[in-house]
Amino acid sequence: MQTKHLLGIEPLHPHQITEILDLADQYAQSNRSKAPINDVLGGCTQINMFFENSTRTQASFEIAGKRLGADVMNMSMKASSINKGETLIDTAVTLNAMHPDLLVVRHPHSGAVDLLAQKVDCAVINAGDGRHEHPTQALLDALTIRRSKGRLHRLNIAICGDIAHSRVARSNLILLGKMENRIRLVGPATLMPSGITEFGAEVYHDMNEGLKDVDVIMMLRLQSERMDGGFIPSEREYYHRYGLDTAKLSNAKEGAIVMHPGPMNRGVEIDGEIADDLSRSVIQEQVEMGVAVRMAVMNILMRSRREAAQEAML
Ligand code: ASP
Repeated sequence: MQTKHLLGIEPLHPHQITEILDLADQYAQSNRSKAPINDVLGGCTQINMFFENSTRTQASFEIAGKRLGADVMNMSMKASSINKGETLIDTAVTLNAMHPDLLVVRHPHSGAVDLLAQKVDCAVINAGDGRHEHPTQALLDALTIRRSKGRLHRLNIAICGDIAHSRVARSNLILLGKMENRIRLVGPATLMPSGITEFGAEVYHDMNEGLKDVDVIMMLRLQSERMDGGFIPSEREYYHRYGLDTAKLSNAKEGAIVMHPGPMNRGVEIDGEIADDLSRSVIQEQVEMGVAVRMAVMNILMRSRREAAQEAML
């Protein structure tokens, strides 16, 4: 994969997606067996800059970097000079002057990570920007699906809930579409972005219909931090109509898997018992695959950075 950054799924070709997933699959095996792992990031400095809360993603990037031998630094953005009025770009340029090899950035504004990537010399990974993209989440979801279903094409996949505010939905819609799956978006009209059908997905407002015969159910959290008005009548009503419970799940194929990117609100978008039912739920495997996918992405980006540096010296 000849690329400097990972800013979104949009620019990736299907063969690049497969290359990442194949390498991640190998890392998933070695993570499980605790096999020794090559220090491919030895001597690299990785800085994690999270301007929005994160539990899974930040921990996962940190573990992934350390497993590959990188020096990992977590910037506390609450304590940073951003709060003294420094712009995002000034902060990035300042850090760039310390010659890191990799910046992992999460930001509440769509497009902020792309902008930052234009101002620095190092590789940048988008760890989620506003409602735009969350590429490593879509890649880890894809790996989880491929391992559970044995393939990543011609599957019926329902993405359910707050589509409008979700970068997870957007990145998944793009990735799963590129890999030729049939995608359904299920949720209330108020949580469906306009023009979404251009992505080639089918839209359902009735959960029972939307889940009929699907292979994969991906539930989403209500992104209340990105809502500026009343998008749903109440959480209770929302759960009644769109929360995944046993009755609604019975519409899906028998072996359908249940996914959720976390953090999960039990009793709002999903019944806690379904989330914990390991015969259906692959939510913990998603977390596990997150480390493997991030290791693969960082390995590939650092390799292409080294190759580019060598070419420049010739
Ligand atoms: N953790 C995911 C994200 O950062 C999903 C969520 O927050 O609901 O987008």
